[in-house]
Amino acid sequence: MPIPSNLSSYQPKPELLTNKTILVTGAGDGIGRAAAMAYAKHGATVILLGRTESKLGEVYDAIEQAGLPQAAVAPFDLASTDEAAYRDLAAQLQEHFGSLHGLLHNAGELGQLKPLAQYAGADFRRLLDTNLLSNFLLTKSLMPMLEAAAYASVIFTSSSVGRKGRAYWGAYAVSKFGVEGLMQVWADELANTSNIRMNSLNPGGTRTAMRRRAYPAEAAAACPAAEEIMGAYLYLMGDESIGVTGSALDARPR
Ligand code: NDP
Repeated sequence: MPIPSNLSSYQPKPELLTNKTILVTGAGDGIGRAAAMAYAKHGATVILLGRTESKLGEVYDAIEQAGLPQAAVAPFDLASTDEAAYRDLAAQLQEHFGSLHGLLHNAGELGQLKPLAQYAGADFRRLLDTNLLSNFLLTKSLMPMLEAAAYASVIFTSSSVGRKGRAYWGAYAVSKFGVEGLMQVWADELANTSNIRMNSLNPGGTRTAMRRRAYPAEAAAACPAAEEIMGAYLYLMGDESIGVTGSALDARPR
């Protein structure tokens, strides 16, 4: 089946994700919070991963109050480069859930917007740890759980500046180029040996705290709310996207 041309208007069935377990990183705020709610509304059990436990707790409560499948909270700092910590997290999740049908790599940091020549090496590396290395380590550690689900979907979050470089977007832009590369290599490695699909998604300008930091003078109405771009997030998690892998998609027409 071809990929819908305008994913923002994708209208899934209410039971799209019933009996699926989906992990969302950065689930406490912004796009991650909206995706966690959208997945739960479509029947998924959502594992809410993030670094600020109070925000994850608020999303957990919102899911519970809406009468949706009970979520789980997984506090974890994705700036961590400790591979053993990722393995421990995966072991705990495996014990509890067994398999994982979906993984949304959403968490990200903006870092500093300034000329590369002024970027400190340590800051550059930290940004790559959070935005890129974490995507690799988390996917790698969760691979047995993803393989245990019949057709798992992994979504990597990209950005316009991860597809065409732009001055002053620094380590953030470079990290998103890396995310695209990670997705492509992994999708190609799995193409003939696994049913796991891997794709990247550029949300496009979306009204969140990160967007406000990047464009402080922009009118709030200039960008859609995170809830308005969920079509693509649902499409890539649902079974209608089985067979789509290695693609770089946009949540809204560009
Ligand atoms: P927000 O800043 O609103 O939310 C980011 C989330 O990631 C927060 O929940 C944050 O946690 C979490 N996070 C950040 N660092 C870590 C960490 N070290 N460990 C665990 N969690 C962490 O961003 P958006 O919702 O706007 O962005 C979501 C994704 O979409 C990002 O990957 C971003 O690059 C991408 N994107 C966004 C666009 C936009 O216009 N908004 C445009 C293009 C791409 P906490 O709440 O604790 O800070």
